[in-house]
Amino acid sequence: MYFAMEYPGLENIDRLKEIHDQSEKWHFIYNLTSEFGFTGIQFFPAYEKEFGLSFQNIPKFISKSFRLTYHAGDTGISQLITPDEIEKADVMFSTSLRTASLAGTEDVSFHPPLIADIALLPVSPEQVSPVNTSQTKENLRKLINKWIPQFNTHNITLSMETHMTPHVFIFSGITDFHEFVSSIPGLGILVDVSHNHFDGNEIDNVIQTLKPLGITGFHLSDAIRGKKLADGTHLPVGEGQIDFGSIVASFRNKDTVYGALEVRGAARWITDSLAFLKTLA
Ligand SMILES: [Zn+2]
Repeated sequence: MYFAMEYPGLENIDRLKEIHDQSEKWHFIYNLTSEFGFTGIQFFPAYEKEFGLSFQNIPKFISKSFRLTYHAGDTGISQLITPDEIEKADVMFSTSLRTASLAGTEDVSFHPPLIADIALLPVSPEQVSPVNTSQTKENLRKLINKWIPQFNTHNITLSMETHMTPHVFIFSGITDFHEFVSSIPGLGILVDVSHNHFDGNEIDNVIQTLKPLGITGFHLSDAIRGKKLADGTHLPVGEGQIDFGSIVASFRNKDTVYGALEVRGAARWITDSLAFLKTLA
């Protein structure tokens, strides 16, 4: 497993927003990634929309120095029932592919469809009206099957993140997620250890269940169950309940698998998290 910068740290985001020149912005990213000691970078839409970097012109000194992946997150994928919703998701895949192929990106990842308003979390079962997810799943399967070969032509894997909070995402848990991914040969998996642990899954079990299907990467940050979502996820590595030793050990010899740090906070948290992970590697 190699480690990649994802969230760049609060102070660095402020700095990035202050810099206006594109070339200066990219040099800042280069220095930041090098100083942290990351091998890769996982870009996500905020790099463009909030930090102001243009993905159309990712400089050679970035793409030659670091291994790149792109996390589309939840941009564009909704319940996929209406033609409009399907069209939006289709556009998300095509835009991601265009960006990713320009910069020599190795993987593009996305979230499964949401069926609840994430702002209303936590959702108790009584609040939820039963949703028929089979049409959503069928339409998602069609889209993924259409796009996988196109990504693969550019040597890019396409991966879905393990968001499987019941009543929130279409997947009700690990069994449901596993069944869906099993039905799509070639679809990769991005494991978010923070959310999965927070939701009550044992990470060892998540890995054992999904590894045979093809894990392409991880979102690494710690978690503490029972807290509010914002306080219990995306914590510095080593400050929560997750056993990172066994995660790193089981992917020690898998050079293609990325571990993107999704620690949301000060730059110091990222520095300390990476140092901790490197002692385990
Ligand atoms: Zn994640």
